[in-house]
Amino acid sequence: MSDEHGFSTRAIHAGQEADALTGAVVTPIYQVSTYKQDGIGGFRSGYEYSRSANPTRTALEECIAALEGGSRGFAFASGLAGQDTVARALLVPGDHVVVPNDAYGGTYRYFNKVARPQGIEHSIADMGDLEAVRAAIRPGQTKMVWVETPTNPLLGIADIEAIAGIAHEAGAVLVVDNTFATAYLQSPIALGADIVTHSTTKYSGGHSDVVGGAVVTRADITVPGMADAEDRIAFHQNSIGGVAGPFDSWLTLRGLKTLAVRMERHCDNAEKVVEFLKGHDGVSQVLYPGLPEHANHDVAARQMKRFGGMVSFRMRRGEDAAVKACAAVRLWTLGESLGGVESLIEHPGRMTHASVAGTELEVPGDLIRLSVGIEDVDDLIADLREALDIHG
Ligand SMILES: *Cc1c(COP(=O)(O)O)cnc(C)c1O
Repeated sequence: MSDEHGFSTRAIHAGQEADALTGAVVTPIYQVSTYKQDGIGGFRSGYEYSRSANPTRTALEECIAALEGGSRGFAFASGLAGQDTVARALLVPGDHVVVPNDAYGGTYRYFNKVARPQGIEHSIADMGDLEAVRAAIRPGQTKMVWVETPTNPLLGIADIEAIAGIAHEAGAVLVVDNTFATAYLQSPIALGADIVTHSTTKYSGGHSDVVGGAVVTRADITVPGMADAEDRIAFHQNSIGGVAGPFDSWLTLRGLKTLAVRMERHCDNAEKVVEFLKGHDGVSQVLYPGLPEHANHDVAARQMKRFGGMVSFRMRRGEDAAVKACAAVRLWTLGESLGGVESLIEHPGRMTHASVAGTELEVPGDLIRLSVGIEDVDDLIADLREALDIHG
């Protein structure tokens, strides 16, 4: 599949030639662990054992690499399994990482409670502030800058191109977690990122029916000494073994085929929900990169196609009102995760971000996060209005 094809053409076809044996139009679920060899070492198409490679996973890995404009894709059992593999492949004890001050809670927990005891140090920085990123770099020791944009749950925006410059000048790789924007709305590699990570559990899978992760590398990693990053990630993927299984790979591939149409609808609906929230008395602030008053709206407008389906807002009457509003909705589902076709509501302080309470990443108690789904938006707004009219 050529890079010149459009996004949806790549999503539907990249890595997904009709099955060589039967002509099956959809990549089959190769639910198999091992492969017959034609004589010792005579692998058919390179397949030997499914931790090392499996055809359904290969299709997904090629597809996600094509969507991100990268050179190689790697699929994992979860987003965090992919992140762990990247960290182990590229960092050694004594190295230092710059981590966003409102990173996904699990990412922060990983650097704080898993990597740090193993000798990988980190500093927290506001990635929306380039001076803060520069100040967090430790010359000679910082080997990785980790960016998430938009962030979860505060919808902060980081300038990928500018941070790539800062990271590369310091001799560090830039990793961008592209889970919220997806490959459809934002292309970090084109903006200078060396590695893209995803929780495919979210928009990429898109149907709340699979947990998975992906990592994509750029062809010519721009950091001296990191030229073998791709091989190191491949080696660690196989050596650690946190790979995506065949059925999970198939579900994620199926989700990716409709990513563009789903994202357009998520964005349409989110914009209308934002408009409603802006006009409601019970809401003190709406956080959405598409709003002109968002601190980094201009950066978001430059690097994203549209502004995504995640919306957060703060309740004027505080935490109690936020908790009650989350319980009062009927169509919106109270739940963690995001990016599925169905709309979800949650209270980050007590749910997704409870693990960062008491740390620098603590989120305000009056905050509500919405993952705006692709239902009929009038129904979504009517349900929200009812809950906010009572508790706002
Ligand atoms: C969910 C999420 C992750 C972790 O992914 P899992 O699939 O749950 O392991 C990482 N980053 C972001 C932004 C996420 O939303």
